[in-house]
Amino acid sequence: MSVSQETETRSGADSVLRLDGIVKRYDDVVALDGVTLTVSGNEYVSLLGPSGSGKTSLLRVIAGFERPEAGRVHFRGADVTDVSPHQRGIGFVFQNFALFPHMSVLKNVTYGLVNADEGAVSAEVAERRARAMLEMVGLSGLESRGVDQISGGQKQRVALARTLVKEPQLVLLDEPLGALDANLRARMRNELRTIRKELGVTFLHVTGSESEALAMGDRVAVLDRGRVLQFGAPGTVYDAPSTPNVARFLNRYNLFAGSLHPDGGFEGPFGKVAAPRVQPADEALYGIRYDRVTVEPENTAADAPALHATFRASEYLGSSVIYFFETDAGKIVESEHHMSLGTPPEYRAGARYTLRWKPEHAIVFG
Ligand code: ADP
Ligand code: MG
Repeated sequence: MSVSQETETRSGADSVLRLDGIVKRYDDVVALDGVTLTVSGNEYVSLLGPSGSGKTSLLRVIAGFERPEAGRVHFRGADVTDVSPHQRGIGFVFQNFALFPHMSVLKNVTYGLVNADEGAVSAEVAERRARAMLEMVGLSGLESRGVDQISGGQKQRVALARTLVKEPQLVLLDEPLGALDANLRARMRNELRTIRKELGVTFLHVTGSESEALAMGDRVAVLDRGRVLQFGAPGTVYDAPSTPNVARFLNRYNLFAGSLHPDGGFEGPFGKVAAPRVQPADEALYGIRYDRVTVEPENTAADAPALHATFRASEYLGSSVIYFFETDAGKIVESEHHMSLGTPPEYRAGARYTLRWKPEHAIVFG
């Protein structure tokens, strides 16, 4: 498949959200620079981007807390750009949870139902729905606790229940796992996916973590300086990043500067090698994913592409091990071993090895 087919846009017919050329400025800062994106019903979309790339601004424009300088927001087929936030019916889970501090868990969840401008329900109905939602997010038994008497993970669930109880078709989550410790974060990943599936709603989940974005999204949108660089299935984004910056944000590619020859080869620190997969870009860069790099005893008769390097250190990530090598030019090159492939090999610190990969696994920009 050609890499340029990357920007998948599903048909507008089943779209829940359609953003059309959204521009948002704060004085001189361009936070959103023409964002166009279509999100389907019943899907989990991750929005990945570094800090300051415009993720929160985009969610705030979708929810209606900010008005874009240009572009339109369409929700469930209607233009809602001029509709106030509470009339849009879009759910928002804030980064810091934003719970009512002096209320119980149950009150936090019923409050928005009883006090809605439109479609408010009786206290009895609100309580029944809130209890059912608290059960769904795993908080049964904690209804009468104060929200200052529960853990961070439980606060996260209250924030989620409070949003979901209003039955929105679209829920915006701003770095929802950012405040949780690593254990809880892993558990909540699964739970968020399960809850979303059960309710059949669409989640737009903002994160700065590439592993979270790839693990959670049915599709992943990559944002950089207010622009969507790529929008596709996680496997596609991982295998075929559409720009050098997408490859950088994925944190799984060794990237080498060099030059692209008119005849198609790439000249890098490993000499001139074949470049079967070239993606047009402003920058000439050769990318090889960590898990595509194999390690051999140092071998002078190395077929290209290969690099001689010294083993420095390794890092266990649970499901894989990353090995760090240093080339003679002082560049760190990483090789990843997935545990599913068997016992991880061990290398001697300070010893020399040859790093090798298949040319067709490289992605070349230029
Ligand atoms: P992210 O959530 O990806 O970290 P933001 O959407 O918060 O990014 O910010 C995008 C850019 O807009 C940043 O440069 C940020 O400093 C700027 N920005 C965000 N909110 C405001 C604001 N209220 N006033 C001025 N600048 C802002
Ligand atoms: Mg943010």
